[in-house]
Amino acid sequence: MRYKKNILVLIAMILCAVLAVAFCFFPGKVKVTFYPLIKAVGGAMVYDENEGYGSIRWNNFIIEYPKDKRDVAYMVLDSLKSDSRRVYDFFSYRPSKPVEIVIYDNADDMRDALHISRNRTVEGAYYMGKITILSPYAWPDAPKTDIEGYFRASSPVVHEITHMVVDEMTRGNVPVWLTEGIATYMEYRIMGYDWTAGIAVKEPYSIEQLTKNFDKLDEYQAYRQSFLIVKDMVDRYGDKYIVSILDFMGHGKEIGAKLLYK
Ligand SMILES: [Zn+2]
Repeated sequence: MRYKKNILVLIAMILCAVLAVAFCFFPGKVKVTFYPLIKAVGGAMVYDENEGYGSIRWNNFIIEYPKDKRDVAYMVLDSLKSDSRRVYDFFSYRPSKPVEIVIYDNADDMRDALHISRNRTVEGAYYMGKITILSPYAWPDAPKTDIEGYFRASSPVVHEITHMVVDEMTRGNVPVWLTEGIATYMEYRIMGYDWTAGIAVKEPYSIEQLTKNFDKLDEYQAYRQSFLIVKDMVDRYGDKYIVSILDFMGHGKEIGAKLLYK
């Protein structure tokens, strides 16, 4: 018995060593190969079964909502009905499995579920295969009246579905700035909503800075630049160019500034 256990430990160690060496030489390939497994485990660990939640199923989406926030579930459903197909059509993409959208009515609960700092503003998120949306009643700038109209105009649904599609197509092999740029561009394209408009870009960050240090840069400028780079690529080379870049990364290849500005 003990002998068998030692053999198993030895095999696991050899596998880890082989993977570590493979990662050094082919980081993109290893990442795209094992990412679906990592995501399945990570996604399952992020959310507990939510008691006191109801669910609505529409097409390939499952919306889970606190039972006293059924109206918010319908706001999300309206966003999905009006915009999800347009996101999928842009990328010529259809999800292979159901997409789970969890609504939170408390910002701290949502931050805790996502393991992010309580100082960060969060209205929507995509993490490990799942989408979370904060009830607009809990948004810091929520108006007292016409919350539905407010949600419709600035819904995070398009942004988060785009993250999900980009993640699936690239198998997680995508820099943060690029997925944020594409998600922000899709909001602009589909909803006519550009929350980065008017943000000044004083000294532009390089692609390398955006790739290596996105989270440490000035958040507003980093998002603005990411949006502008993606918009510029679409304006110059067309929609299909974005799709081809994502396919390219989905095969474990790295993108560089040359590819972005051919
Ligand atoms: Zn985002």
